Amino acid sequence: MSLLYCVFGHPIHHSRSPDIHLAFARQFGLDLRYEKREAPLDGFAESVAAFIAEGGSGANVTVPFKQQALTLAGQVSDRARRAGAINTLKRTDAGDLYGDNTDGEGLVSDLKRLGIEPAGANIAILGAGGAVRGVLAPLLAQQPKRLVIANRTVARGEQLAQEFSDLGAIEAVAPDALSDAFDLVINGTSASLSDELPALGNVSLAANGWGYDMVYAAAPTAFMRWASEQGGNSADGLGMLVGQAAESFYVWLGKRPDPEPVLLQLRKQLSA
Ligand code: NDP
Repeated sequence: MSLLYCVFGHPIHHSRSPDIHLAFARQFGLDLRYEKREAPLDGFAESVAAFIAEGGSGANVTVPFKQQALTLAGQVSDRARRAGAINTLKRTDAGDLYGDNTDGEGLVSDLKRLGIEPAGANIAILGAGGAVRGVLAPLLAQQPKRLVIANRTVARGEQLAQEFSDLGAIEAVAPDALSDAFDLVINGTSASLSDELPALGNVSLAANGWGYDMVYAAAPTAFMRWASEQGGNSADGLGMLVGQAAESFYVWLGKRPDPEPVLLQLRKQLSA
């Protein structure tokens, strides 16, 4: 019998997760089914229970159920608890649900794939929403020299800096107060969805610095164009998407897929 996985969300028709996980499964010759399941807004818990009763082995969870998933898992990883959200559920041998969050690992693995070394780096991160919260613990675990959060609503950035201060050197400033040159500026705002450039103060990129946009798009975003104008390198978040999926696959099956060919395939589809 084939292994059964799915992604829960609402809406879910746009999800690329089935393509990604089926491509990973082919790398190992695994017989795996991966479905998109649109749970009703008031029926997430019931949908998960029904899926597990059907024999589901694990699931990804996306908007708007990531926070709610925390209430369903009997065991929760530290990184998911820190993120305040679960994107990966796994049925344990005991029939319980284990919850994890692989978004931050997806970002860190993509940075490394690009040759960006977070250890010892000066990093600025724009935004303080769910995406930024999800990546802070794995980023701090890399021991950057300095991690500065700059969010439009300054208090949200300060709150995050306070919550994660036990994990490393982290501070929050208003975007206008950003000066200095950074090795890496990560755009974790949703500004790119409307091709806007978030406020950047007087920030610049250090020599060979990078601008990394968590949003992915067919063409370079306004933020990626800014990084290029600075003479820096730029990347979008498609590799982070594939990276978080690869880490979920590892949580479920103990196998590490090669993200590169899957990323190339998705990039082609995105630009078609
Ligand atoms: P949230 O809605 O939780 O947070 C949005 C953040 O963006 C807030 O900090 C908000 O600031 C800020 N923001 C929105 N518009 C602007 C603007 N015009 N200028 C400056 N700041 C702005 O969203 P998420 O954190 O969940 O997601 C953020 C982005 O990350 C999304 O666009 C999503 O596509 C992407 N993402 C990518 C992933 C990947 O795998 N590549 C994974 C997860 C997310 P304020 O607090 O002031 O409102």
